[in-house]
Amino acid sequence: MNQTPPYVIAAPEAASLPVRGTDSRFPVHRIYCVGRNYAAHAVEMGHDPDKEPPFFFQKSPTCLVTDGAPVPYPTMTEDFHHEIELVVALSKGGSDIPVESALDHVFGYGVCLDMTRRDLQAVAKKASRPWSTSKSFDGAAPCGEIVPVSEIGHPDRGAVWLDVNGTRRQEGTLEQMIWKIPEVINTLSQLFALRPGDLIMTGTPAGVGSLVRGDDLHGHVDGVGDLKLSVV
Ligand code: MN
Repeated sequence: MNQTPPYVIAAPEAASLPVRGTDSRFPVHRIYCVGRNYAAHAVEMGHDPDKEPPFFFQKSPTCLVTDGAPVPYPTMTEDFHHEIELVVALSKGGSDIPVESALDHVFGYGVCLDMTRRDLQAVAKKASRPWSTSKSFDGAAPCGEIVPVSEIGHPDRGAVWLDVNGTRRQEGTLEQMIWKIPEVINTLSQLFALRPGDLIMTGTPAGVGSLVRGDDLHGHVDGVGDLKLSVV
């Protein structure tokens, strides 16, 4: 039995996500994100879409916005961008996970947003500084329910889109992912010992853009579900 140690301050609450079809929740350990994983988005951000090795950044689990809560417009930005993405939730960890067995480590999938302070990111890129302030801030990771593999299998085709106030902003397909999910898990597990509870945001299709307070967002991934929320 685990015994709770006597903490000197109140222990922070663990982040978690709802799971479709149950009252139990998915406990979140870490959040990894893949950069530029759709060619059309790489081009719109001014990069070569050729298949270079995937690169990663992290968000703190404290960035999560769950259970349909509104997304607070962040401080220190005038260019708050949406990136609609498929998120992978791991049930098993490991290092050097082979491509062939990578999907055995997946508990389920969800619809998420990789929110970005694009203006701060542009400054960071220019100055070769880290992306923490542009990618890992309060409210930067709105995420819907996790849908177990036992219900939907492993989605690898179909539409990914985001509507803002009823107008289509982003649109692509899962087939357009440059690095497929087994390859992402394989590469990531060479860099980090993955753990149960890790989330991986898998990249965004073209059409990223700016939001304002009051915007209503509706994201969708075929075979997974929908994510609806507002910016306040
Ligand atoms: Mn992204």
